[in-house]
Amino acid sequence: MNNIRKHIELYGQVQGIGFRPFVYRLAEEFSLSGFVYNHTQGVVIEIQGEKKNADEFIERLKLAEREELPLLKIISMDIASANPVEKENSFEIRQSQTEGQISALVTPDMATCGDCLAELFDENDFRYRYPFINCTNCGPRYSIIKTIPYDRPNITMAVFPMCGKCKGQYENVKDRRFHAQPVACPACGPKITLCDNKGNVIEEDSNQAIKKTAQLLLEGEIAAIKGLGGFHLACDAENDAAVNNLRQRKMRDYKPFAMMAADIDTIRQFAYVDKVSEKILRSIQSPVVLLPKKESNTITSSVAQGVNTFGFMLPYVPLHHLLFAEKKFKALVMTSGNISDEPLICKDDAAFENLAGIADIFLIYNREIYRQVDDSVVHIICGEPVLLRRSRGFVPQAFIFKNEVKDEIFAAGADLKNTFCFVKQNRFVVSEHIGDMAEASVYKHWLNSIEHLKNLFQAEPSIFVCDMHPNYFTSQYAKKIAKEKKLIEVQHHWAHIASVLAEHNINKKVIGLVADGTGYGTDGAIWGCECLLASLDDFERFGHLAYYTLTGGDLGAKQAIRPIMGLMGKYNLSVPPDILESIEPDGEKIKAITMQIEKNINAVQTSSLGRLFDAAGALCGLGNSNDFEAQIPMALEAVVDKNINEYYPFELVNTEVHIGKMIEMILKDRKSGMDISIISAKFHNTTAQFFLGLAKRAKEQTGIKTVAISGGVFCNRYLLTRLIELLKDNGFEVLYNRLVPSNDGGISLGQAAIAANSI
Ligand SMILES: [Zn+2]
Ligand SMILES: [Zn+2]
Repeated sequence: MNNIRKHIELYGQVQGIGFRPFVYRLAEEFSLSGFVYNHTQGVVIEIQGEKKNADEFIERLKLAEREELPLLKIISMDIASANPVEKENSFEIRQSQTEGQISALVTPDMATCGDCLAELFDENDFRYRYPFINCTNCGPRYSIIKTIPYDRPNITMAVFPMCGKCKGQYENVKDRRFHAQPVACPACGPKITLCDNKGNVIEEDSNQAIKKTAQLLLEGEIAAIKGLGGFHLACDAENDAAVNNLRQRKMRDYKPFAMMAADIDTIRQFAYVDKVSEKILRSIQSPVVLLPKKESNTITSSVAQGVNTFGFMLPYVPLHHLLFAEKKFKALVMTSGNISDEPLICKDDAAFENLAGIADIFLIYNREIYRQVDDSVVHIICGEPVLLRRSRGFVPQAFIFKNEVKDEIFAAGADLKNTFCFVKQNRFVVSEHIGDMAEASVYKHWLNSIEHLKNLFQAEPSIFVCDMHPNYFTSQYAKKIAKEKKLIEVQHHWAHIASVLAEHNINKKVIGLVADGTGYGTDGAIWGCECLLASLDDFERFGHLAYYTLTGGDLGAKQAIRPIMGLMGKYNLSVPPDILESIEPDGEKIKAITMQIEKNINAVQTSSLGRLFDAAGALCGLGNSNDFEAQIPMALEAVVDKNINEYYPFELVNTEVHIGKMIEMILKDRKSGMDISIISAKFHNTTAQFFLGLAKRAKEQTGIKTVAISGGVFCNRYLLTRLIELLKDNGFEVLYNRLVPSNDGGISLGQAAIAANSI
């Protein structure tokens, strides 16, 4: 015999996506013997047979990522020759090996696939209407895995012994459920229960529980629904009383709610869905997609006030599909099941304890969600999906870079919209959205999540990265655990720009334009509107918005009167009394703020663009305080008249932007009764123009033609789109965030990239 034998090791996203059955079928097709097994770093394959067949097998393996298994991500494939084995006449899938270095990738949770959906509504299928139907192409993953490798004993399905039928499929290599770890059916798997808000069972039969829930939602009740990564609070989005009820009980007055509708056609009744949005809505990640509202729609206005978009997602677990199949409502509000800014709730007992005052009914099931994962949020910029929150469906998919990093890295991220990042070998694993550290429960959840991800990826970081801000909880923690190990402190806005460079896998000097709320600057001031010259190696500050005084600490980001008074002081302007009174009727308070500015008490110097947006919005009569982050700026964006190309005058003094004239003109336009849609457009356009001005000046002095854009204020679609177009029209190459948010959710990747580059 001329048999040859090959030993193949694969790394990447290779587990939990139906890879081993695929390899088995492929080996059969080419009459090869040998074996395949998952080990802690990836997958090992040995094949034996005719050389021609073995070569073709390997070719097909390389193509699988593009053709047969879209979820497969091979980072590297090592192929070595081995000595042929005698008396081996079959190919087998072997038990997972747990020894060795554990760094195999865990896959994200995936929306129900088309095959499972067809079975779900097929009366002849034994999983007909079974709310936990899944297969190797879909279902829970990251949210149910306790430790690696990804096998039944290590997931929260371990407590459900498979019945004969399920086991048969699980063990049948020809089946779509071959080694599908969460496989289950009505006879052996988890069940749905409907309870009242005291935990008393209303309905124990899964199907009846779902039908009853749909009926009660139609009647205006609020339901806590256990989903894939945690609980949602749900109510009928067309029912004004129900939505207002939810707002009152959740004590969330204004922040827009996300919604779910049965299908794209239904969403189209409320919002505009272009081709790209449709593709993203239907993707296995199934995120919330921000879509332009239709002028007239039947969603009750309190769902999303002060914004011009609706956030919609499609059903992504069988339970959602079954609920919508009842056809009782067109769209449900599906907002995170948590209290104010605390972490998403994923455990039943915590849900009853915390959400009983909000939800009337609880639709739960007896399988544990091990890790909470929020819904991801996407919007469309220049025809491409851009992530605003990277969580369910995306995490823990690693960013994979060509070069291996010698040391392991932990990047702590920022204090707001936190994510953190582990770097191991050539993989950058950015955590799910964690939240804002000011909330003690979020900080606790953060520590917990760090431990979990560290365990999943067996990370042993020797380099720690954090923000320069001395008061960040994340920085203090990083400093504490770094001890004698290497600690790198990275300036906030440099990290923003580095996140763009990392995403695009480049390291060269670029013009970095940052539009942000706050970030600690190297001079101790609070930066926020910056033009940097930056690479992963270093950065310098080229230009910025001229400093103004901001008082009141954290209140400065809430009360628009504070940046307004700071800007008035800076430019020697005064707000007409009627406008001033509408923003802050308390004259004493204004006096106190003025005094604080003059005497520099509880005051900082800032170039914050976010606060300038607060000021402009308030001067346009769009609100006096941010009840949630960026409420006023979002309202200002929502009213923009996109047909206006004019902008206000501003001055570029060397590399410092002075906006006194713009503010003067805004006040003038307000006084003359100009429509705020025009004022808002002119304001946004001015911002884009002064960024362009800075970029041009930087190009003149350095010859750099590539601009990287990042920062929280660039979640503003109008501003970002306008600036990208302006820069391109002026001959710049423009890079911006797509895979991680341009807000602080992207900071950890930027920090990690800077640290990795420094080794
Ligand atoms: Zn499936
Ligand atoms: Zn079963």
